[in-house]
Amino acid sequence: MKVTKHFEQAKGKTLFSFEIIPPLKGQSIHSIFDAIDPLMEFKPPFIDVTYHREEYVFKKLPNGLLDRRTTRKRPGTVGICAAIINRYRVDAVPHIICGGFTREETENALIDLNFLGIENVLALRGDSIKTEPGFVPEPEGHSYAVDLIRQIGDMNNGIYLHEDLQNSTPSDFCMGVAAYPEKHFESPNLSLDLAYLKQKIDAGGDYIVTQMFFDNKKFFHFVEKCRAMGINVPIVPGIKPIATKDHLTMLPRLFNIDLPEDLVDAVLRCRDDKEIRQVGIEWAIAQSKELIEYGVPCLHYYTMGRSIATRRIAEALF
Ligand code: FAD
Repeated sequence: MKVTKHFEQAKGKTLFSFEIIPPLKGQSIHSIFDAIDPLMEFKPPFIDVTYHREEYVFKKLPNGLLDRRTTRKRPGTVGICAAIINRYRVDAVPHIICGGFTREETENALIDLNFLGIENVLALRGDSIKTEPGFVPEPEGHSYAVDLIRQIGDMNNGIYLHEDLQNSTPSDFCMGVAAYPEKHFESPNLSLDLAYLKQKIDAGGDYIVTQMFFDNKKFFHFVEKCRAMGINVPIVPGIKPIATKDHLTMLPRLFNIDLPEDLVDAVLRCRDDKEIRQVGIEWAIAQSKELIEYGVPCLHYYTMGRSIATRRIAEALF
């Protein structure tokens, strides 16, 4: 079922969902099931599976030169989605990205998803390759998520890349898009970032999932700005519990977000990781309670493949 249909059927009740990342290449699918199993009693209607593009690995040759190889460390997004649907009978939402894909490859990937009965996708630009300074689209690929959304929209209207196709069957994907309550790191300001977000919704985005944030006021401000400019689709907040002291520097660096002073002080007062995890869980519960009161359609947790903290949060809320 479409994610937006799940929201409609919930009739104002806040749903629980989460995101998992594929295991490192060579690991078993059971590591994914081990992460999902403890969360199933909270009845997630859908589970997101991230997509990880290729990376460059440099190997030193005997002559001293470096040999550049391309590898994907976390393949398997589509297979995991199919396994989730098969095992748990819930919807799986694969993330699909522009990076590394030509339009033709995107179309073929979407055809696979359609044939597997996957009805939802989160359509993203994707980040740049780790060793590259900025995002570089493939030749014949998309530069921005909005272009990918337009391609999926075309397929939903039966328009494929080969215009001479006759009697083509339209797909019917529900499309989620990403947004950033504290703005995307490349954007000069929130207003311009929101103008581009509006483009994504006008192009066919059906709902929004936000980047993690730790200060609900930022989310409320973001939602108000969205509504004021006519972005009226459901907006799902993304929540991540802090788990280590390193998160204090790593999360702002990776995700361009601020951490509130109270949260940072509480983490710095902790004597060990166990205490930090407890602070992170309590903060996420307090954040989630306020967001439920605000009336969000769904709370979406970033598990990063570890479900213990998310389970403790869900126990307190769902
Ligand atoms: P876009 O919407 O294309 O925006 C990228 C930047 O370009 C922004 O600064 C925007 O303001 C600007 N912009 C947008 N449109 C235009 C335009 N037409 N002209 C000029 N500028 C424009 N990454 C992965 O690789 N895999 C994942 O699975 C993944 N999952 C994610 C899930 C969520 C919920 C979120 C919030 C992010 C996720 N990301 C993932 C990260 C995401 O791919 C990066 O943040 C990426 O840098 C931007 O993606 P986007 O879809 O928001 O891009």
